[in-house]
Amino acid sequence: MKEMKNRKSLYWKMLRMTVIPIMLLAIVITSFSAHSFSKALGEEVKKGLVDISGTILTVYDHLYPGDYHAVKQDGELYMLKGEHQLNGNNEIIDDIKEQTGVEITFFYGDTRVITTIYQKGKRIVGTGVNAVVLKDVLQAKKPAFYEGVAIEENLHFAYYTPISDESGDCIGMLSVAKPTKEVVSSKMKSIIPIILLGFVGMILAGFVSWHFAKDLVDGIAKIEQFLRKVAKGNLSDDLDYNVLKREDELGTMARNAVKMQKSLIELIEKDPLTGLYNRRSADKKLKEAYRNKTTQNINMQLVLGDIDYFKSVNDTYGHEGGDVVLTGISDLIKMHIRGKGFAARWGGEEFLLVYIDMDYDEVLRNVQKLLEEVRDAEIVYNENKIRVTMTFGINKDASEGIEEMLREADEKLYEGKNNGRNRIV
Ligand code: GH3
Ligand code: MG
Ligand code: MG
Repeated sequence: MKEMKNRKSLYWKMLRMTVIPIMLLAIVITSFSAHSFSKALGEEVKKGLVDISGTILTVYDHLYPGDYHAVKQDGELYMLKGEHQLNGNNEIIDDIKEQTGVEITFFYGDTRVITTIYQKGKRIVGTGVNAVVLKDVLQAKKPAFYEGVAIEENLHFAYYTPISDESGDCIGMLSVAKPTKEVVSSKMKSIIPIILLGFVGMILAGFVSWHFAKDLVDGIAKIEQFLRKVAKGNLSDDLDYNVLKREDELGTMARNAVKMQKSLIELIEKDPLTGLYNRRSADKKLKEAYRNKTTQNINMQLVLGDIDYFKSVNDTYGHEGGDVVLTGISDLIKMHIRGKGFAARWGGEEFLLVYIDMDYDEVLRNVQKLLEEVRDAEIVYNENKIRVTMTFGINKDASEGIEEMLREADEKLYEGKNNGRNRIV
C-alpha cells in the first residue's frame, strides 16, 4: 500500500496504462453513441411527422376540395379550404392528434388559425411563430424540420409545410409537432438498459485489466523487496513461492534473484577451494548448534582433524598437488558428514567436524570410519596416486561452551600428533 501513495510507482503507472484508457474509451464511445442516437432519433421522428403531415393535407383535400384561401369579415380573418371554414373546426385535427399523439396547427401567414395545442385550458389560436420558421417556410416556401422548437415553453420536434393558394402564393403553413420530452422518455426506456450494460461492461473491463496489472506489479514489488533485503545483506529471507512458480519473465527474474542469493551465500559462507564452510560461517553455525544444545538439549559433538605431514605433500607434488589432495579429502569429508551435522575448513589442512544429535560412542565410530576412508583413499594427481592419513581430536565433554570444547579437541589433536599421528584421541 505504501507503493500506492508514491505517484511515480508502478502501481500508478499501471493505473494510468489500464483504467484511464478504458475510461477515455468509454467516454468516446458513449458520446459517439449519444450523438448517433440523437441523430437517428431525429431522422425517425422527422419521417413520422412528414408522413402525418402528408396524411392531414390529403384528408383535407379529400373532405374539402378546393384551395386554401382567406376572407376578412367584420375585421376578423377566416381561413377556408374550398367552401369550408377552418376557424373553429377542430374535429379532424383533434381526431388525428388522438390517433398519432402529435400536435397539429394550421397557420394563416404566421398566425395560428386552428390548433390542438392548449395553454391554460384554451387553444392557443391567434399566436405566432418565430422568425426562423417564418423565413425558412413562409418566405422560402419550403417545408422544414426542427429538433428544438419552443411552443408555449415546451420543446418540440416540429415539421412545417407551406400551404399555397390557387395562384401558388404561400399563404400559410401546416405544423405537426411532437413534444421532445415524450419522444426522449419513450426512447430512454429502451436505451437505458443498453447504457447500463455498457457501463457494467466498462467497469468489468477496467476491473479485469487492473487485476492483471496489479498481479504483475505485486510480483515485481515482491522481487524488489527481496532484492532490497539481499542488498542490505539479509540473505536468509525466502521469496514468495507464488512469484517463484510464475511461468512468465517475472518468474524467471524471481528464480534468478534466488540463485543470486544462493551464490552470495556460497561466496560468503564457503571456502572457495574446498567448498566446505569457511571458519567465519562455521563459527556462526557452531553458536547456533550450541544454542540448540542448551535450549533444546540437542547434543553436539566437536571434532578437529588435521592431515598428517601435509607439508611433505606440498614439498613432493607442489602446491597444486597439495590443493588437489585438500580438495579430495574435503570431498570425502563432505560425503561423510552429510545428514550428520556439518564440516568446515578450520585452517590450512585442518578441519572441524560437528556431529549433531549423536552420542559420543556413535561419533567415535563415525570418526573411526572417516579415518579409515581417508587412509584408504587414493588421490590422483598427474598420474601419481597420493595417500595421506589424518589425526583427529574429539572433545568428550560438551558442556563447557564452544571455546572450551574447541580447546579440548585441539589438545587431543596435538596429543594424537605427538603419539604417532593417523589416530583418534
Ligand atoms: P603435521 O602432521 O604435524 O600436521 O604436519 P604438517 O606438515 O601437516 O603440518 P604443518 O603445519 O607443518 O604444515 C602445514 C602445511 O600446509 C603448511 C602450508 O604451506 C600447507 N598449506 C596450508 N594451506 C594450504 C593450501 O591451501 N594449499 C596447499 N597446497 N598447502 C597449504
Ligand atoms: Mg598437518
Ligand atoms: Mg595443521
